[in-house]
Amino acid sequence: MNILAPLLAIIPFLLVIGIPIMIGVYVYKDANYRGMNAALWTLIAILAPAFTGFIVYLIVRSSYSNLNCPACDAHVSEQYTACPKCGAILKAVCPGCSFPIEPDWTVCPKCTTPLSGQQYGFTPPAQKKDTSLGKILIAVILIPLLLFALVIVLSLSSFSISSSLNTMYLTEDHYENQPQITEWIEACNEDPSKTYALSYKSGRNEIMTTTYLIYRPANDAYTNVETKSKSGWFGAKIQVDFTEGAELYPYENRLISVTSKSNKHADLKVSLNNKTIDCDIKEVDYNLALVEFTEEYD
Ligand SMILES: [Zn+2]
Ligand SMILES: [Zn+2]
Repeated sequence: MNILAPLLAIIPFLLVIGIPIMIGVYVYKDANYRGMNAALWTLIAILAPAFTGFIVYLIVRSSYSNLNCPACDAHVSEQYTACPKCGAILKAVCPGCSFPIEPDWTVCPKCTTPLSGQQYGFTPPAQKKDTSLGKILIAVILIPLLLFALVIVLSLSSFSISSSLNTMYLTEDHYENQPQITEWIEACNEDPSKTYALSYKSGRNEIMTTTYLIYRPANDAYTNVETKSKSGWFGAKIQVDFTEGAELYPYENRLISVTSKSNKHADLKVSLNNKTIDCDIKEVDYNLALVEFTEEYD
């Protein structure tokens, strides 16, 4: 599972890069073939947003010939009477003066020789077969759809990853024997619009444990605290929501310990009355979970 997650995260990136590369290669080759400015059109096709450059290219290119000599496959122009490479006759010519003529002409406009209406001895140039354009158009339509499906599958799969969250409502008294924690609390700014947290990360056997000890300076407002955790392909998150309101119970515990066990270390997000508030997080190298509570995690 841990190997699959980064692979799945790379796929959308590859597809997003892949489409412009496909379009760029196609436009470069096609423009070159038609005698258009290949480098300029490639840049326009790749860099213009929402494929507008590519669409403009497809419109403009139709006035440039993409004809091939039926005998030797060389690139020929619509005006050519004969192939410059192999000499194959590409257009009917007047038997009198060799002026190129159209099939429905009855008289040569140059030398007035009557024309039979049927000219032989020439093979018209063939249009180059263009199968790669269809592939590109399918990719341009299908890849965003596949990406969309992938995002849906990934977001649904986030519910299948097992994670657990333990929350404890504590006071400073619980840590009176841990001077580094009481010192940290004393050093915190007494600003009730902010929160502070110590984090401790550990993990073994693919289970990542993250403990946050969160301190929010009390302001005597009645406060409710809710904690929840979410875990998915792109990471784990612990959400702690403080809600203040007169109808709530007074919140006296100034410390909250949250421990998440998941396949990844969890990030912390704190909100006050549904608005995300600043949390000053300091990582420590000692276990924050109290010894007498640790057994509850297993
Ligand atoms: Zn030829
Ligand atoms: Zn003629």
